[in-house]
Amino acid sequence: MPTETATLIPDPAARRRIESLSGQTISACFQCEKCTNGCPVAFAMDIVPHRVIRMANYGTIGPLLHCATIWVCSSCETCTTRCPNNIDIAHVMDTLRQVSMKEGKVMPTQHDAPIFHKEFLASIQRSGRINELDMITRYTLKSEGIGGMIKQAGMGIKMLTRGRFKLLPEKATAKSEVKTIFKHTGGKP
Ligand code: SF4
Ligand code: SF4
Repeated sequence: MPTETATLIPDPAARRRIESLSGQTISACFQCEKCTNGCPVAFAMDIVPHRVIRMANYGTIGPLLHCATIWVCSSCETCTTRCPNNIDIAHVMDTLRQVSMKEGKVMPTQHDAPIFHKEFLASIQRSGRINELDMITRYTLKSEGIGGMIKQAGMGIKMLTRGRFKLLPEKATAKSEVKTIFKHTGGKP
């Protein structure tokens, strides 16, 4: 019986695009797997970090824009600190998230993650630091609507009374510097 062998054709232009957007030399990766071995959430990923870098190196970007991994990644930077080739893998993940959102490639099962991502950044842009109550209210409204707000209200009140949330946000000391960072990086979360 004949067997089919998939031929992988490298796409250096696609790799260079991600390298240019992330500022990382992905081609320096020698697949030691230290990033994956240190990643606390690799167990929940559909493509583990060293494979993300491998695929990006080949220019196989399509599946990376449409995978769960980029939304499962918590940006903890453990992989980045472990990489012997100084590749900021966390930044590559962030780059893939931004491209995925821009190109409308987000997996339907990850629908809520980009909403959280945007609201998180928008809150920092508005206040200079995270305003948890404001962020979580906007996120819940956008992801679950009024029904979600009603459902979550009990837990929200409990968290407020236990001091997990503050009604008024703490004042940011570097608000103008944060605004400048957003201005220089495109101004949009
Ligand atoms: S730790 Fe760095 S060199 Fe090793 S597999 Fe990950 S990205 Fe590649
Ligand atoms: S930044 Fe993301 S990929 Fe890297 S170790 Fe943390 S969760 Fe894993």
